[in-house]
Amino acid sequence: MEDSRESGESRSSQSSWAAGVLPAGEAPTASSMSSMSTNWAALGTSRETLAGRAIITQPLNHSGRLPRVYEVWDNVGGRNRFCCCGRCITGPDIDFWYNLCTWSLILIPSALYFWACSPHLWSLNPLLPIVTGIALIATIVFLLLTSCTDPGILPRRELRLAVPGLEEEIVSAVGVPPLPAEGGAEPEVPPLSDLQQSQGYRWCSTCKIIRPPRASHCGDCDNCVLTFDHHCPFVNNCIGQRNYAFFSAFLFSTGCLGFSVAVGVGIRYSSMGSLPDLWRNPVLCLVLGLIGIPTALMLLGVIALASFHSFLICTGRTTKEVLTGRITVAGRTLLHERGASLIHARSSVGQMQTQEP
Ligand SMILES: [Zn+2]
Ligand SMILES: [Zn+2]
Repeated sequence: MEDSRESGESRSSQSSWAAGVLPAGEAPTASSMSSMSTNWAALGTSRETLAGRAIITQPLNHSGRLPRVYEVWDNVGGRNRFCCCGRCITGPDIDFWYNLCTWSLILIPSALYFWACSPHLWSLNPLLPIVTGIALIATIVFLLLTSCTDPGILPRRELRLAVPGLEEEIVSAVGVPPLPAEGGAEPEVPPLSDLQQSQGYRWCSTCKIIRPPRASHCGDCDNCVLTFDHHCPFVNNCIGQRNYAFFSAFLFSTGCLGFSVAVGVGIRYSSMGSLPDLWRNPVLCLVLGLIGIPTALMLLGVIALASFHSFLICTGRTTKEVLTGRITVAGRTLLHERGASLIHARSSVGQMQTQEP
């Protein structure tokens, strides 16, 4: 996959590009929009809708290079968002407040703990605040890894047709039958045999792809995800095959953080003497309450969630399978091979097939 300007220009000049291809920088007309082929080198990122189908209508840039997958994701993918030039992917922006709640519950009590408790704890035993600091760093790292890792998104039909060689890679990596119709036409009926359906293969009418057993379509992200567990708005991402281990580690480290903070607050309270002595320093009492109450709530929630996922890991089930009761196959979820990301966010988009509405 070449990303250079030369590569983009040479591709855009190939005679195999079908009629309807636009010259670079030229605004497309309505008739050219409805053609069977779209030249992504000439088209850009702002979108219009023609007869209900999103299309790209503005020049991407003046370099003439082919756009990358993350730059045209709105047209070939779901509602996930990219950052760091396609190196990180996270969930939809509707999860913002849930995600903010998670970060606040982790950072605010931890900051107050280090301000109000750590000097006293350090004088008793330096290991107490050091262990809390390690647990805090681990929690932040695993939260970022869970939030910013591709959970195992299965590229939609449009993307498979747009990136050369992607379809072959998916068939080889996931073991699904290849896209059924040639020439970009979508099949009118699900192209699955009874045997394939009994094995757990399903047709996704949104992504227009066959998904393997245990994969499921996330309504929040609007993508199919391999070994889909659930969509977690608190980490702003799906939990699936490629980030389930990070999510489990996040739960474990958050539990350790909550426990060590709770112990530290308890020791600090006990050092203040009897109840009447506590009221001599109301500010410190308030701060300890602001640390202790959110920490206790977070700890209870994390313990319940960690217990549930320990059960899932031991039984080889996913959250969705347990909640829906629809089980086709079982298998490891925690130590399952992650596999490479299939969305190739930084790869150049080649030729994309669109259809007349
Ligand atoms: Zn889907
Ligand atoms: Zn999702």
